[in-house]
Amino acid sequence: MYPVMLNVRNRRCLVVGGGGVALRKIEGLLSDGALVTVISPDPIKPLSELASQGAIELVVRKYLKKEAGGFVLVFAATDDSEVNQRVFEDAQQAGIWVNVADDPKLCSFHLPARLKRGALQLAVASAGEAPFVVRRLRKLLEHRFSSEWAEWVEAAGSFRKLVRQHNLSATQQEKAFNSFFDSTVDKQAITARVPSPTEEISWLNDSTQQTKPRKNYSKPTIDPRASKPAFGKLRGFVSLVGGGPGDPGLLTLRGRQRLMSADAVVYDRLAATALPCDLPARVELHGVGKQAKHHPVPQSEITSLLIRLAQQGKQVVRLKGGDPYVFGRGGEEAEALAEASIPFEVVPSVTAAIAVPAYAGIPVTYRKQVVRVTLVTAHESIKADGPQVRWDLLAADPHATIVGYMGVTSLPQVVEQLLQAGMNSATPAAMVERGTTSRQRVVRTTVGKLPEMVRLHRIRPPALFVIGPCVEHAEKLDWYSRRPLVGERIVMVSPGGDLGEALSLHGVEVVQVPLPVTEAARIVMGALPLTGCVFRSRDEVDALDEERDAPGWEPRMIAWCLDSATAQRAGQLGWTRVKEISGPAFDQNLITALELKSQRPKHKQ
Ligand code: SAH
Repeated sequence: MYPVMLNVRNRRCLVVGGGGVALRKIEGLLSDGALVTVISPDPIKPLSELASQGAIELVVRKYLKKEAGGFVLVFAATDDSEVNQRVFEDAQQAGIWVNVADDPKLCSFHLPARLKRGALQLAVASAGEAPFVVRRLRKLLEHRFSSEWAEWVEAAGSFRKLVRQHNLSATQQEKAFNSFFDSTVDKQAITARVPSPTEEISWLNDSTQQTKPRKNYSKPTIDPRASKPAFGKLRGFVSLVGGGPGDPGLLTLRGRQRLMSADAVVYDRLAATALPCDLPARVELHGVGKQAKHHPVPQSEITSLLIRLAQQGKQVVRLKGGDPYVFGRGGEEAEALAEASIPFEVVPSVTAAIAVPAYAGIPVTYRKQVVRVTLVTAHESIKADGPQVRWDLLAADPHATIVGYMGVTSLPQVVEQLLQAGMNSATPAAMVERGTTSRQRVVRTTVGKLPEMVRLHRIRPPALFVIGPCVEHAEKLDWYSRRPLVGERIVMVSPGGDLGEALSLHGVEVVQVPLPVTEAARIVMGALPLTGCVFRSRDEVDALDEERDAPGWEPRMIAWCLDSATAQRAGQLGWTRVKEISGPAFDQNLITALELKSQRPKHKQ
C-alpha cells in the first residue's frame, strides 16, 4: 500500500449510499473541499439537509450502470452487495480509484484513520487488515496531540516563509528550522507551543552565526505587550463565561450565544458538560484544567493562551465551571487581560453553592430560619499561607447556611474547628458530589458525623458541603434524586424531540449529539460515563459506531433500539447489550424498560 495525500478540492467525488457510513465519508470529503455527488434511493435526514444547504448534490434514486465514470474518486457504502459490486466494476473499468465500505476485496484504496490539527495530519492504516486497531490508535493519538498543534503548524508555516525571504544557505536554513523545532516542541510530553516574534527573529540571527547554542524546549514566556505589534490590528475579545455546575441546561442564554459565535473556546474540565454539542466545527477547542491522569495546565499558561488567541484577533470564550468569579480564579484571568489591554466581559452563571444544594433538595435560605448564607473555600483551611477562614465566627450563628467549596480533604479539620467554636454537633449537614449531574451523590447527616460518612461513602471532588438547619428540608424537597431514571446518561442523535424531553423529565441526563458528530459532542460524551444509547434507525447505529472507543463510552452501555432491524445492526457491530423496544409506543415503552432496569440491583461503581 502506497500512501498519498490527495488534493480533492473542487474535484468531483461520488458516494453511492445514503446511510450513516456514507455520511462519514461525505463529511471527510466535504471538509477537504471536494464536490460530492451522493446517489441513494433513501438518504438519511442529515444528507437531505446537506443537500438543501447546497453542500452536496443528492440524487435520490438507485445507482445506474456506468455512473461511476466522470469522478476522480468513488465510494460505495450501500447494504446491497450487488450494487456495491457494480460500482466497483464500473470504476475499475473506467480506471478510477474505488472504495467499498467493509469489503477489502472491492477496494483499490483504503482510507486511513486520520487526525487533523490544522494543516498537520497524521494518518494511520493497516492495509485494511485490522481496522479496529487503527481506530484505537487514532483515539490514542487524538489524546496526545491536543489542539495547540494546529496553531503550531500554522506558526511553522509562517516561520518557513520568513526564513525563505532571508537568502540563507541551505545549512543556515536547517539551523533556523532546528531552533524552531527544538525550542517549541516538548518531545517527552508531545506538546508544542507557538513562539513569539522576538524568538523567531533571534533564531534567524543565530542561524547566520558560526556557533549557536542549542536551545531546548522552554515554557512560553510571552510578554503580551512585546508581541502585540506583530499581529497588526487588534480585534480580539475574551468572554469569561460561567458554564454552571454540570447540568448543561443551566448554561445561560448569553453564555450559549458567546460560545456559538466564538473562534476559540478555552474550557475547564469541570465545565466540559456545558459545551453545546452543536458547537460549530470551526470553533477551536482548548481543554485546560485538571483531568484524571493528566497534569493541569498551569494558570500562567492559561492566561498566556487567552492573550495569544485574542491577539490573533479571535473572539475567545473562557468557559469555567459554575460562576467565573466564585472561587474560579476568574478575577486573576480578567486582571491579566486588562493588563494586556485586551477587551473582555464576564458572563456570570449559577454557582455550585446555589445550584448543587437545590438539586439535593436544600434551599440555602429559608424564611424565619436562615437569614445568611456564606460561600467559603474550605481548601484554604489546610493551607498555612494566605488569609484564614474565621470558622469561629461562622460557628456562632445558628441562623445561617455554610456552603463549602473544595472541602473533601479538609472536611475533618473544618468540622473540628466549627465544633470547637461551639457549633451544635447535631446541626444538619450534607456533602454533595457532582451535583446536578447523572453522577450526583448526596450524603446527609449531622455536622458531627459528616466527616465519617464522607469517608465511608468515598465522596470525591468535585463536591461541596452544606451545613445549617436548612439541610433538614431535603427530607421533603429532594425532587431530583426521586426521579425514577436518575443516574442514566444516554446518548441520542439530535433532535431528541419529545422523547428527549420525556427522558430528561424522568431524570435521564440526555446527550443529544448532532450528525456529523462534532468535536464538542465528543468532549461532552467523554466528560462523564455513559449508560446507554438510543437508536431509532440502523443509520444512527452506523453513524455513532466510530465513537464507541471514545472516553465516556463503556462496554456495558445498553443499545436501546426502536425495531428489530436496528437491534440487528447493533448486534452485527458488536454491541453486547442490545435491547429491542417492541410495541407501538416507543417513547413510553423505552421509559418503562429503563425503569425496570433501574429497579434491578445496580452495578458497583
Ligand atoms: N467557579 C465554580 C467553583 C470552582 S472551585 C462555581 O462557581 O461553582 C471548584 C469547586 O466547586 C469544587 O471543588 C467543588 O467544591 C465545587 N463544585 C463545582 N461544581 C460542583 C458540582 N457539580 N457538585 C459539587 N461541587 C461542585
